[in-house]
Amino acid sequence: MKNNKKIIISIDGFSSSGKSTLSKKISRKLNYKYIDTGAIYRCVTLLAIRKNVFNSDLWNIKNFIPFVKNLKWKFYWDDQYDNMAIILNNENIRSEIRSIEVTKKVPLISKIPEIREILISIQKNMGKKKGIVVDGRDIGNCVFPKSELKFFINGSLETRSYRRYIDFYKKGIKKISYEKIKNHISYRDEMDIKRKISPLKKSWDHIEIDNSSSIDQQLNLIFKIINEKIYETIGKKNNYSNRRIR
Ligand code: C5P
Repeated sequence: MKNNKKIIISIDGFSSSGKSTLSKKISRKLNYKYIDTGAIYRCVTLLAIRKNVFNSDLWNIKNFIPFVKNLKWKFYWDDQYDNMAIILNNENIRSEIRSIEVTKKVPLISKIPEIREILISIQKNMGKKKGIVVDGRDIGNCVFPKSELKFFINGSLETRSYRRYIDFYKKGIKKISYEKIKNHISYRDEMDIKRKISPLKKSWDHIEIDNSSSIDQQLNLIFKIINEKIYETIGKKNNYSNRRIR
């Protein structure tokens, strides 16, 4: 498909709602790039932890902002890791950004307007050629407000917490209780919704997907909508329908 015929698909929603699983499956099927914007905020948080920003005063946060501005980013798809990989100042940052410490601190970084401005500009650049599936919190409202399709993945706090609990359990992390996970997800929800700048918000043009249905049901609905949108955009049916969803 030529670039001018490709579209941008925004996937917003709450923490642990399954956005990344859906986004990866959609991007594979359409042969689009997948952009995990949460990973970008996580990378900056990891660097802030390394630089002791959280133990310091505002003056040091001010120093941190020019440092973030000058970071050199490279993004590529890593099949082995099954995710978007990030090379930041020549370092491949992978598992560290998923640590509990980073997950706890990321809302403190993502609420800083100057940092959002820098990271949003990087994301906008990544979308110039279209043909992307982007997951995050403010994608449809702030990063790509003109994206052709916007989904909002919703789900109860309990469903999302249980999902995360099972994920941890499968990874062999069995010490974290369901209640603790639920409290933490609820804290992140609050921080994302109440943030003054680009909060998580479902807008009128987001199509809501309920994550309590099975992933196949969610994908069937999503692909039906995508098919209609692409048909409307490029004027002919897609030929991706026989491609396997991994
Ligand atoms: O999606 P993920 O859980 O990796 O996101 C981590 C955090 O990054 C979120 O809790 C949120 O604070 C922040 N984030 C954001 N805007 C985005 C994506 C993530 O503020 N577009």
